[in-house]
Amino acid sequence: MPFRVPFVNYPLQYSNLKAEIDGKIQGLLSKGDLYLRDDVINFEKDFAKFIGSKHCVSTNSCTDALFLSLYAEGIGPGDEVITVGHTYIATIASIVLNGAKPILIDVGNDYNMDVEMLEDAVTPKTKAIMPVHLNGRCCDMGKIMKVAKKFELAVVEDAAQAVGAMFNGSKAGSFGLTGGFSFYPAKVLGCYGDGGAVTTNHSTLAERLYLLRDNGEKAKYLTKSSEEAKEKKIYIFGFNSVLDNIQAGVLNVKMKYLSPWLERRRDIARMYNEGLSDLSQVAPPPAPNMSPYYDVYQNYVIRVKASDRERLVKYLENNSVEILVSWRTPNHLQSALKLEHFNLPNTEKISREVLSLPLYPELTDEQVNYVIRVVHNFYKSA
Ligand SMILES: *Cc1c(COP(=O)(O)O)cnc(C)c1O
Repeated sequence: MPFRVPFVNYPLQYSNLKAEIDGKIQGLLSKGDLYLRDDVINFEKDFAKFIGSKHCVSTNSCTDALFLSLYAEGIGPGDEVITVGHTYIATIASIVLNGAKPILIDVGNDYNMDVEMLEDAVTPKTKAIMPVHLNGRCCDMGKIMKVAKKFELAVVEDAAQAVGAMFNGSKAGSFGLTGGFSFYPAKVLGCYGDGGAVTTNHSTLAERLYLLRDNGEKAKYLTKSSEEAKEKKIYIFGFNSVLDNIQAGVLNVKMKYLSPWLERRRDIARMYNEGLSDLSQVAPPPAPNMSPYYDVYQNYVIRVKASDRERLVKYLENNSVEILVSWRTPNHLQSALKLEHFNLPNTEKISREVLSLPLYPELTDEQVNYVIRVVHNFYKSA
């Protein structure tokens, strides 16, 4: 039996866009436009414009967008990069795999980097800060950029969960030296596999990233003359991390719907916040109208008593509401990773108390109200 309220619903979104998506994919297949063609070029242009940054370098994932950002900046052995423990593991992996040392700090009650702890984590070895805009909420970029400026640190934003989120009217991914984005299917803007992008205002860095993601070659659309294109020069040792043209085609179709989708996400968050406001046992996420933040609710995360969490998850699932818990084991307590020396009490507390309710634009008001009702029933019966 499918869930009455599944946590994601890929087939539903596809059926809403079927004619456009099918037309796009069939067109690309018929023309053989598979690799670094018009759809990649157009997507990079449109996405940079949407974020408000000068350049967008598409990649095969956000994992690579983050890894290549640090790599392009020459961050490596002997360097420290400050980030948070409460994030998807790819953030931390991008630091470690460049040979640098991750310095994990705790998060505040909005699940983002606790900026009060930032300055204390800076050492003479610190080269960069990686703020993670979790759940579709921007970090306090005012404070973070101030510390970065004071100590001359690069800022690489992990904006995987924050397409369209804003702080003080500017979008996530437009503050730092680079921003990394994910187009994994479940993300706010998702393709049909893996996809990602780096945004940056730094032209030299963008050029380097275009080479790094394509085995050191300059794609034809980036060359200045036909002579240069013919030469097939290798500029640098690179990686293979391009965004597939078919995935870019899918993203180009979906880009048109992005703004209304974000508004719908915020409306649903408002409904949840209101519907759950009478339950003292449930701590909702920050509300959508909390200036200077503009949250896009990649996830709708509530916090409950640790002793209630697993029972509530089970109760919701028994009542046909699918739930996600991100994350039950904090990264620094994953024993294989050797990060146990970090002391992150709020991250650990959060890992015992959070759960995410379904939230995506295709959810009906009736489904949202149903979820609210089931949460109420749990506390009535508890
Ligand atoms: C999804 C995600 C990533 C990784 O993105 P991929 O495109 O799957 O590589 C990185 N960081 C955060 C916070 C994410 O949510």
